[in-house]
Amino acid sequence: MTKSRIILLIVFAGLIGAFFYFDLQHYLSLETLKTKQETIEAYRSAHPGLAITIYALIYIVVTSLSLPGAAILTLAGGAVFGLLLGTVIVSFASSIGATLAFLAARFLFRDSVKDKFGDRLKAIDEGVTGEGAFYLFTLRLVPLFPFFVINLVMGLTNLKARTFYWVSQLGMIAGTIVYVNAGTQLGKIDSLSGILSPALLGSFILLGFFPLMAKKIISTVKVSKVYSKWTKPIHFDTNIVVIGAGSGGLVTSYIAAAVKAKVTLIEKHKMGGDCLNTGCVPSKALIRSSKFLAQINRSSEFGIKDAKATFEFADIMERVQGIVQAVAPHDSVERYTELGVDIIEGTAKIISPWEVEVKIPKGTKIISARSIVIAAGARPFVPPIPGLENIDYLTSDNVWNLREKPRRMVVLGGGPIGCELAQAFARLGIHITQIEMLPRLLIREDQEVSAAVTEKFRKEGIDVRLEHTAKQFTIENGEKILIAEHQGNEVRIPFDQVLLAIGRVANTTGYGLEDIGVELSPRRTVQVDAFQATNYPNIFACGDVAGPYQFTHIAAHQAWYAAVNALFGDFKKFRTDYSVIPWATFTEPEVARVGLNEQDAKDQNIAYEVSTYGIDDLDRAIADGEAHGFVKVLTKPGKDKILGVTIVGEHAGDLIAEFVLAMKHGLGLNKVLGTIHIYPTLAEANKYVAGVWKRNHAPERLLQWVARYHAWRRK
Ligand SMILES: Cc1cc2nc3c(=O)[nH]c(=O)nc-3n(C[C@H](O)[C@H](O)[C@H](O)COP(=O)(O)OP(=O)(O)OC[C@H]3O[C@@H](n4cnc5c(N)ncnc54)[C@H](O)[C@@H]3O)c2cc1C
Repeated sequence: MTKSRIILLIVFAGLIGAFFYFDLQHYLSLETLKTKQETIEAYRSAHPGLAITIYALIYIVVTSLSLPGAAILTLAGGAVFGLLLGTVIVSFASSIGATLAFLAARFLFRDSVKDKFGDRLKAIDEGVTGEGAFYLFTLRLVPLFPFFVINLVMGLTNLKARTFYWVSQLGMIAGTIVYVNAGTQLGKIDSLSGILSPALLGSFILLGFFPLMAKKIISTVKVSKVYSKWTKPIHFDTNIVVIGAGSGGLVTSYIAAAVKAKVTLIEKHKMGGDCLNTGCVPSKALIRSSKFLAQINRSSEFGIKDAKATFEFADIMERVQGIVQAVAPHDSVERYTELGVDIIEGTAKIISPWEVEVKIPKGTKIISARSIVIAAGARPFVPPIPGLENIDYLTSDNVWNLREKPRRMVVLGGGPIGCELAQAFARLGIHITQIEMLPRLLIREDQEVSAAVTEKFRKEGIDVRLEHTAKQFTIENGEKILIAEHQGNEVRIPFDQVLLAIGRVANTTGYGLEDIGVELSPRRTVQVDAFQATNYPNIFACGDVAGPYQFTHIAAHQAWYAAVNALFGDFKKFRTDYSVIPWATFTEPEVARVGLNEQDAKDQNIAYEVSTYGIDDLDRAIADGEAHGFVKVLTKPGKDKILGVTIVGEHAGDLIAEFVLAMKHGLGLNKVLGTIHIYPTLAEANKYVAGVWKRNHAPERLLQWVARYHAWRRK
């Protein structure tokens, strides 16, 4: 706790202690109020302005310190100032006092609560961001919920103080009027409990439930409005129609079929989608060949004098296609038909919330379904750069058709796809110029990760141009030229082929979404809620078309939620769990990450400690000639709880699995350290980084005493 917090805490404790020590509570009782009523009224008649000020100040102090007595003070307001003026004064004083208590709780305790219950508080904060004002209003309406508890608890959330103030003032008006009104007839009141008769209390509870009911009604009206212009079929041909047979669509269909639902999967192009045909599989196959060549070029490092490789570029690209063909049966029509999925090879178009029209070679057919899952994926973004239309540019969609090796290639983009392909093609002997407008490659990773990759790329001959913005493409004397801007200067880069790798856009047009009004997010992906549902509760979306992460394993992860919520959501709905998201970039050095890195932690204002282990020191990495990279773990200060891990080095994508499991199941670094890792393996790096953390947290005092004990034993 900081010094200022400690001081404030002492001041608060002192004031509260004094209140009880001097028995000031005694002044805030019904009897005292009744006996002093005449004196107070006389004072008010003599000094009306001062009386209001003193009363309001006392009210604010009592409520801001969360002292007992606010109810008596409210009665006093009615007794002394009458219904109208009393209500106005109490309404402002109680809201100001409540807000001060709220701010004090936030200042004193929010950080330590965040430290202790970070994950849970994050979920609560997310709820409060969307619905906080609404729930506060409900709590304020029902005077059963203690006033001071609401102030203090709300202070621990991320609710804005301004919102807290006005919602409190509005929500407390009804209760304030009842108490102030009771105060106007003070003589008739014998106890506080009599003020709220069961009937009045019942009305308050009803009032409190009103916003909840209103919310439910609004959402029901909203839902019925989206469906209002459609006629729901009486019967359905199938339980789910899935649009797109990429990673998201295949897994949705698989799960639906596994739980015996009737599922129809529609694919307009190739089974397996991007991952199999133009994404993960061909890129990793290409990377394998290029890595093999890179290793041959390092043969002397391994004691082999003269290893040489001759190859044809076309053969390597053919091998890539061979690998795609070898993996294709996993995603094939035959396999999924056998699993119980009805597959239609055709183009789907949503024509109503329950109907999909499919264009097949023989015509069209309409399939009705209780639910629809959109898994239509994404495509490479083609930027509006002047002159690009005159260039036969490449993207991750068509680069796989290359058979003739270009001499010079510009790779536009320094993200994972750009980096993987830039290095792979460079290793096949193409001169690569990689253009990135930001100051670093792999900008989502920490500084030293980008530095390690950039250094390796440059060492391998890739011309990495950072802070270069592509401005124009032109052809001069038959030579293609990219004109870029770098720090205000024009840079001209001649090339033979250009590969665009500057992001991917979700496929959201041309298949009915705009016709029926499926909402899109600001990022132009299909807008889904926490359950993967669109604004039509029976239409779901998963994978690249929904985002926010564009990976095969995330598409598959979301697909589970889309399928289960589509089929069983009427009974129980499951929120997509994004708590532990891993990914890897398959460059050399390989980069893998799960959870937070340092730049995320700083952006989100999350306190952390760093433990780093250099893989250059690892026996197996040394033996393999791969002694480079590091494992970097972020933990909670003073705790072994893992907040995030970045691994740079050989097989980083495999090594990180241990941390993904640990984070998912709440295992800390002590558990990783206490687990036997096979010697000599790269996985030992995980144990060693846990050892680094342990050494940094060694109980120094205790060890000094132990040392003394050993010294004494030697005497
Ligand atoms: C070069 C590259 C490398 C990558 N490497 C990796 C990696 O190593 N690891 C990783 O996790 N991710 C990687 N990705 C990302 C991964 O490929 C995607 O995240 C994944 O394919 C998304 O799956 P999806 O099901 O959402 O979409 P897709 O796989 O794109 O599937 C969508 C399918 O929907 C079909 N479709 C669209 N509209 C219709 C319609 N109207 N009717 C019928 N069918 C339709 C499309 O034809 C397509 O087959 C890579 C991507 C690229 C481009």
